[in-house]
Amino acid sequence: MSEGNLKALSTLTTMRVGGTPKQIISCSNTQQLYDKTLELWGSEEKFQVLAGGSNIVFADDVSDLNVLLVANRGIEIVSEHEDYILVQVQAGHPWDEFVEWAVTNDYAGIEAMSGIPGSTGATPVQNVGGYGQEVSDVITQAEFLDHETGEIEIKPASFFKFSYRDSALKHDLEGVIGWVEFKLQKLNGLSIPMASGQITQHVGAEYGSQLPLRQVRETVMELRSSKGMVVKIDDPDSVSCGSFFTNPLVGIAKLTEFPEEIQHWKMPDGTHVKLSAGWLIEHAGFPKGYSIPGSKAAISDKHALAITNRGGATSREVLELARLIQERVAARWGINLIPEPNLIGF
Ligand SMILES: Cc1cc2nc3c(=O)[nH]c(=O)nc-3n(C[C@H](O)[C@H](O)[C@H](O)COP(=O)(O)OP(=O)(O)OC[C@H]3O[C@@H](n4cnc5c(N)ncnc54)[C@H](O)[C@@H]3O)c2cc1C
Repeated sequence: MSEGNLKALSTLTTMRVGGTPKQIISCSNTQQLYDKTLELWGSEEKFQVLAGGSNIVFADDVSDLNVLLVANRGIEIVSEHEDYILVQVQAGHPWDEFVEWAVTNDYAGIEAMSGIPGSTGATPVQNVGGYGQEVSDVITQAEFLDHETGEIEIKPASFFKFSYRDSALKHDLEGVIGWVEFKLQKLNGLSIPMASGQITQHVGAEYGSQLPLRQVRETVMELRSSKGMVVKIDDPDSVSCGSFFTNPLVGIAKLTEFPEEIQHWKMPDGTHVKLSAGWLIEHAGFPKGYSIPGSKAAISDKHALAITNRGGATSREVLELARLIQERVAARWGINLIPEPNLIGF
């Protein structure tokens, strides 16, 4: 565990905003993470768990905040079966390194979630997903320090109440995840059936087909890069939190209120559709690259759903733009866009 090393949170987050906190405590093993969390829970101190910093926007003034940095790492196969493995990954392990490990070792189930930044322990928080896969499809259980009981317990996936880009951890459930266990398939180097038309069209395959794992990973990296959705030092459109808003879910009947061309996806329940928040934003009068005059926060040049920091933006500027987008989308389309990142200290 290391304390001190005080830096502005802008250096620890992909949006590159956020002031200097009271202290940053880096926990390189799981026990330290639990011990320090319990200590802070027992005090009057304000604190926030931070891992990869890719889904969080800190306020400009966070001088009263203690930050616990999740920095435990490791991947361990805990049981091997004929056609699957169970693998436990420490919370602070970078997610995309785990995906690369799975692809290299021919384990299927997470290949389409290549290139998503951040840590493995944060993936249950918003049920991370992309290109037809979600972590809730493969999480079996996780070790969790529960604020309510103060106990460290192994919780089954159902405990976290996963739904689209959401879990109980975003609402009433408070605690810290130490490790996450995943069930990955052995499919002789092939992926699980692809549930993303974008991937299958890109490689000229049929929807639902199984593709070589490496091909899926490379395709997803290419598609994501074209939208500024891979964090790269030389891509200013990736100085963001990824999607700033979730795609709104509406009852299927509401679809008639929108023009036919609106991009949308039918949900498996048959009664809901997910509308493209990016489409709603662009059709509420915000072109890609838009910024409020004088502001250093702007909509990405590549993707209307990402708010980017063009260099030296403040959190206030980021949130001003987000609020303006919400207001205009609500006025034009009657839809209340919900921010995806965690907004801390506002
Ligand atoms: C360019 C870009 C593209 C992205 N694309 C996608 C995408 O395709 N799909 C998607 O779902 N997301 C996407 N994201 C969002 C983000 O990558 C994920 O939400 C990721 O899981 C966040 O991980 P993190 O470690 O950075 O979390 P942080 O930002 O550090 O934290 C996020 C939240 O999780 C909590 N948390 C972190 N670790 C723990 C823990 N161990 N226990 C309990 N709580 C914890 C924090 O307290 C905070 O509330 C993207 C982000 C960027 C910048």
